[in-house]
Amino acid sequence: MVETITRLTDVSTLLTINALLAALSAIIFLALDATRRGAQRINGVLLWGISYAAFAIGFGTLALPSLDVDFAELALLGNLLIDAGTALALLAVNAYLDRPKRELGILFPAAAIGIAEIYYVLTGGENYRVMVMMGCALRGIVTIAAGISLWFHATDTQRSGSRLTAAFHFLWAFMLLNRMAWWLFHPQADVSEDPTTASALLSRLILTWVITPSLLWMLTRQLDAELIRYAHQDPLTGVANRRVIWERGERWTAGVDGQNTTMAVLIIDVDHFKVINDTWGHDVGDQVLVAIAEALAAHVRSQDLLARVGGEEFMVLISPGDEPTVKEIAERLRLAVEGRSITLLSGDKLTCEVSIGYSVSARGQSNWREMVIAADQALYAAKHGGRNQVIGVSSFRPTLEQAIAC
Ligand code: GH3
Ligand code: MG
Ligand code: MG
Repeated sequence: MVETITRLTDVSTLLTINALLAALSAIIFLALDATRRGAQRINGVLLWGISYAAFAIGFGTLALPSLDVDFAELALLGNLLIDAGTALALLAVNAYLDRPKRELGILFPAAAIGIAEIYYVLTGGENYRVMVMMGCALRGIVTIAAGISLWFHATDTQRSGSRLTAAFHFLWAFMLLNRMAWWLFHPQADVSEDPTTASALLSRLILTWVITPSLLWMLTRQLDAELIRYAHQDPLTGVANRRVIWERGERWTAGVDGQNTTMAVLIIDVDHFKVINDTWGHDVGDQVLVAIAEALAAHVRSQDLLARVGGEEFMVLISPGDEPTVKEIAERLRLAVEGRSITLLSGDKLTCEVSIGYSVSARGQSNWREMVIAADQALYAAKHGGRNQVIGVSSFRPTLEQAIAC
């Protein structure tokens, strides 16, 4: 048992395990990057892969003497590779979180420390104490910068994974600075007396073991969120899609049933949209649709739901409430589109109009399909009535008690 622990904490064993673990992480991240194409690629994943590869080669290089492979400046090379891995990890975090490049400023003092280390070793020969102190200072500040980014700048979906990762970055930085401090206060110590090498390597091992799954967890959560977004969002305009409004419509109508309340649905269709496409081209048509969606979204109340349900057709679900407001809302939306001057990417300006048909459910009685058909008929009437107008139908059907009372 004691022998096993001694062997496990043997520096060359720890270096080898670290190299293997880092290589495994590198393969995972590089494979993750290689299997995603074009817009699906996640920023930073490739850099994480390269960063782990640098760690793997760095630790592997430092482990070479145990295989009787040795050459001048081997320790310097190994340490510089680990430094490069640390810097690449910061670049990966910066790219993944889409942070401004100026937040990479910490790399300048880090590079200065690296250059000083190279100069010192090349002119004065390898000095273990100097290499440890400079390496730890360099990795420590860069790791703290990566930890700060991960802690403060993640989105809601990334946050739990990124905070866990950040915490382990801080722990790793603490180990590095602790190691640096030990050598600072033990200037006469011999390499063999150094208690910090094994503990730093052991903690790095645990950290790689924890950081990689935390990063993967963070990426999985992000991918989940993306999938949910793709399933619910219209890709052109960014508003909800047909599936969302259909589900919500069916749910709300079921909720209205039996309650003393009504709900409404608006169908909005752009007038003569084909002319815009034919005159200006499909791309301009798309820009107009985006602008119309923006105009509508700006005037839809927070409790209502706007969706794009077809080519140039939108729908608004009005949450249960008073019938008179529905007409006001519809009129407001029509005016919002009519009053908007759409500036195209070419600089040209366009205006367009919409026709709106709406239906209001019977109080306490509603059926989603019937409501949509009624709104569609109202839209048809608005088109035939000259377009750029609002027409509504109310499908108030008296309940049995009300009919008897009449
Ligand atoms: P109306 O006033 O009667 O609604 O006339 P309209 O021209 O708007 O209606 P019509 O249904 O004849 O034409 C709709 C056009 O919308 C035809 C189609 O090419 C275009 N369209 C459908 N989806 C898209 C899209 O995603 N982008 C663009 N640019 N055009 C689209
Ligand atoms: Mg249409
Ligand atoms: Mg149309």
